[in-house]
Amino acid sequence: MSIQFKTIVELRAMLDSKQISAAELMQESLGLAKKHEELNCFVTMNEEQALKKASAIDLNEKTTSNLSGIPLAQKDLFCTEGLRTTCSSKILSNFIPPYTATAVKNLEDAGSVTIGKTNMDEFAMGSSNETSFFGSVHNPWKKEYVPGGSSGGSAAAVAAGIVPAATGTDTGGSIRQPAAHCGITGLKPTYGRVSRWGMIAFASSLDQAGPLARTSEDCAILLNAMSGFDSKDTTSLNTEVPDFLENINNPINGIRIGIIKEFNLADLDSQVQERFEESKKTYEKLGARFVEVSLPNISASVPTYYSIAPAECSSNLSRFDGVRFGYRAENTDDLNDLYIKSRSEGFGDEVKRRILIGTYALSAGYYDAYYKKAQQVRRLIKEDFEHAFESVDLLMTPTSPNTAFKFGSKGTQNPVELYLEDLFTISSNLAGIPAISIPHGLVNSLPAGLQLIGNFLREDQLLNAAHIFQKNSDFHLLKPDLEGSQ
Ligand code: GLN
Repeated sequence: MSIQFKTIVELRAMLDSKQISAAELMQESLGLAKKHEELNCFVTMNEEQALKKASAIDLNEKTTSNLSGIPLAQKDLFCTEGLRTTCSSKILSNFIPPYTATAVKNLEDAGSVTIGKTNMDEFAMGSSNETSFFGSVHNPWKKEYVPGGSSGGSAAAVAAGIVPAATGTDTGGSIRQPAAHCGITGLKPTYGRVSRWGMIAFASSLDQAGPLARTSEDCAILLNAMSGFDSKDTTSLNTEVPDFLENINNPINGIRIGIIKEFNLADLDSQVQERFEESKKTYEKLGARFVEVSLPNISASVPTYYSIAPAECSSNLSRFDGVRFGYRAENTDDLNDLYIKSRSEGFGDEVKRRILIGTYALSAGYYDAYYKKAQQVRRLIKEDFEHAFESVDLLMTPTSPNTAFKFGSKGTQNPVELYLEDLFTISSNLAGIPAISIPHGLVNSLPAGLQLIGNFLREDQLLNAAHIFQKNSDFHLLKPDLEGSQ
């Protein structure tokens, strides 16, 4: 029986009833990755280790975790001990980390098996996967379309049914937007819920790891394992982690969902609007009440993010100097020349653009005008959310203003076009609150995503509302036609 497109819950049942062994499951999953190599989901495979671990699991009769023997893919931004970690950049193309990121370690300790590292936008900067040094990932639904980004390899690997779930990171939308464009479910947790230790930093005050899966139930399974306090990450939250599966089936009647007045949905593609209206109706039938709320500063989210994220990235990426690790240019005259050539040759254009913008925003004389100002606006946006959550339980928006687009059709002349992809996702990163994207139908044969935003630490409410939606709809069951998709 094929394991393609199966969820974690389904694979667990197959493993428990001995329909399949963990080793067979791994072989199948690795075989699917090979079969769909043209999607370019993976940068590095972990075949030998994966098969070894799966065989060891088969020998151990006692299964204590629902993740035991489940194949997963990890975004190539999580350090993995002994396994190449590139961030899809030339500058790290030979980097083999000496340790494993806490988020991945937690998942592996729960018994899951890493089959490989997924392709992404270089250093997670992008929304289309077109900035990867290893070439773009193709959208399984239509191969000449982008999968979204930056966690595009993870999203495509799940959408193509190669693995039931994968990890991603979300600084401004990089879990939710590719999940939306590939027709799967993706959750960005509260900032601090999952340790950032061992994640290669892009913008440290915004980066957050989370799961991508076929269902919200599977996202809950991954989040249960990934979450928790980590003394190695100073921003990790020292707070109890609930069991995210416990209340996932609770009825949602009476739930109050806010629609953000400042997001003018009437400007969107009419079919995207139509999907949104239909989903509202589904939630109304399930007992939700919709309320219009105002977040007066939310329209400043994109410029605020594009001041803060590049500033932090310019600082974080200064460690890639060609001396300590990573790519080193040859034939250099002196140390300065070595720095300049290694960085000029090692980084791609978008990364360089961000470093330049960030260095400028942090420089003396501009710091107050850009970085400090952006931090002040960020505070206002956070307060807007706090205010909104006094009268609603969740907020709802489309995940993205549009569905996936063709390679090369956006942002090539004007990068801001691509930056606007994250119009609806960025604000939750600025506020540090959780948000989920779930599939809610097709627009011109491509998936559209619905975003739910939750209050601080309320991933349980998001997963509950998303799960009830999925129990009452079948959009998450739609599969791409991988043989036929052009
Ligand atoms: N698309 C956004 C950017 O390019 C967000 C990326 C992310 O969340 N990592 O910065």
